[in-house]
Amino acid sequence: MRTSQYILATLKETPSDAEIISHQLMLRAGMIRKLASGLYTWLPSGLKVLRKVEQVVREEMDKAGAIEMLMPVIQPADLWQESGRWEQFGPELLRIHDRHNRPFALGPTHEEVITDFVRKEISSYKQLPLTLYQVQTKVRDEVRPRFGVMRAREFTMKDAYSFHMTDECLAQTYQRMHQAYCNVFERLGLDYRPVIADTGSIGGSVSHEFHVLAESGEDAIAFSTESDYAANIEKAEALAPTEARPEPSKELNTFATPEAKTIAALKTLHGVKPHRGVKTLIVYGAPDENEQRGLVALILRGDHELNELKAEKHPLVDSPLEMAKEEDIFAAIGAHPGSLGPAGLNMPIIVDRSAAVMADFVAGANKDGEHYSGINWDRDVAEYEVFDLRNVVEGDQSPCGKGVLQIKRGIEVGHIFQLGTKYSEAMNAGVLGENGKNQIMTMGCYGIGVSRIVAAAIEQNNDDYGIKWPTALAPFELAIVPMNMHKSHRIPEIAERLYSEFKAAGIDVLFDDRKERPGVMFNDMELLGVPYTLVIGERNLDNNQVELKNRRTGEKQMLDIEEAVAVIT
Ligand code: ATP
Ligand code: MG
Ligand code: MG
Ligand code: MG
Repeated sequence: MRTSQYILATLKETPSDAEIISHQLMLRAGMIRKLASGLYTWLPSGLKVLRKVEQVVREEMDKAGAIEMLMPVIQPADLWQESGRWEQFGPELLRIHDRHNRPFALGPTHEEVITDFVRKEISSYKQLPLTLYQVQTKVRDEVRPRFGVMRAREFTMKDAYSFHMTDECLAQTYQRMHQAYCNVFERLGLDYRPVIADTGSIGGSVSHEFHVLAESGEDAIAFSTESDYAANIEKAEALAPTEARPEPSKELNTFATPEAKTIAALKTLHGVKPHRGVKTLIVYGAPDENEQRGLVALILRGDHELNELKAEKHPLVDSPLEMAKEEDIFAAIGAHPGSLGPAGLNMPIIVDRSAAVMADFVAGANKDGEHYSGINWDRDVAEYEVFDLRNVVEGDQSPCGKGVLQIKRGIEVGHIFQLGTKYSEAMNAGVLGENGKNQIMTMGCYGIGVSRIVAAAIEQNNDDYGIKWPTALAPFELAIVPMNMHKSHRIPEIAERLYSEFKAAGIDVLFDDRKERPGVMFNDMELLGVPYTLVIGERNLDNNQVELKNRRTGEKQMLDIEEAVAVIT
């Protein structure tokens, strides 16, 4: 590829609305552009990386015995009604109507569609076990789309589904998929951990998440310092001894009045140490003396424990809290007055880093008939908070009985479940068993966030100059950068020759044939993260040499022109 005929679309400035490094670099390197909140266009270089991830995932799925197919994004509502998720899924399920006013959903996942397919196509135990997968666009109307393609509203997922006669058979396939996932992340060169996970609303008995370790990760994962134990924080909490917990946050939902909720929230927070974080914001509203609007906020920096804060006694609670002036609060959190909603807002808002926790909280509040109307979550509160309203903290004993817990941040890039009969039972998906009787199948499901992996890989592979792609993911293998090509006869000639030779040797090469200053070209190639750059300069040509630069190590190596292709290929 020649840059003159390509769309590099690199940016010098860091876009101001991109908070984390992968989002910034994907924009700056010309990999993606935003269309609307949570919706991104993949530019050619970005798409090449996305396809590489897809390819590795496909190869490992095929190797594990899964079979590729493709299901529609648009799914009829009646399937979701059958499984019970039309009601359950909530606002993350984007719903539409066709011209006949029939309801549909844009698929956030495909358990219903695949179960419907299998119940129609598969009739006998002889056709099982069966594992089917697809690489498909998923749509989720996320409450807080952010971090670019990391948490998008439209994204690419590989989702696989397995069908079995017995739980033992399911467990075997599950193990194979677990291994396939490890292979994928290994091949992509990522520092990752499989952790045991809560099955939550999906149901089933056994589940693992795969996390790429990164400070920017939205999830917390707990490790034992002395064993292989690793769990996502929800699971670690579920297994933690109850006396180690301060008041559970569940209490927030069981208190009837907003005032009591506020108190419960604050008490809960009193016993909890923040594990980490840059800025913590807990905002809650409480009526002031005139029964008018009064906002109380508590602002913590990550290192502080709550009880170390200097604060005034709050009239509602027996704890040292500050009744701050509204404008001070806004000044401290960098928001503008009025941005946190209308007067009369009198319930606690806990802004938690975990989107799941926050979504539950909002859903819970809505169930009680209370509304957060007037708050624009994306605009007003999304940037703040980094407090985990958690019961498990670093240094706790662990559930496995060995060592103490260490907590790290992770990006969830994969999630696998032994579903059991949750969907097959609800949708009556059975086959004829060996005994001639109808038997409900047992199922597994296995997801990988293909597009999220691209961003996660950048979180782990970058420096001040841009992206440092692991070889398996790089959009190009090699860049040819001829210096001041228009000022010399030799340079374009050698560059053209090498370009054709590399192409002929099957190397995916980007030839920077723009009439740009060398600095501009180097910067772009480093930003884009091309693993090797071949620099062609007048002085080295005098010795019949070119320079090869390694993006990851910074090492430079002189090569004789005649041997360059042989050495690199
Ligand atoms: P999260 O906890 O981050 O919201 P999830 O648990 O809802 O993810 P799953 O239903 O387990 O996601 O989907 C499988 C995989 O799809 C996830 O492990 C993740 O890698 C990816 N994924 C989920 N939501 C998004 C999103 N909004 N944008 C990009 N990838 C996503
Ligand atoms: Mg989610
Ligand atoms: Mg999750
Ligand atoms: Mg998940």
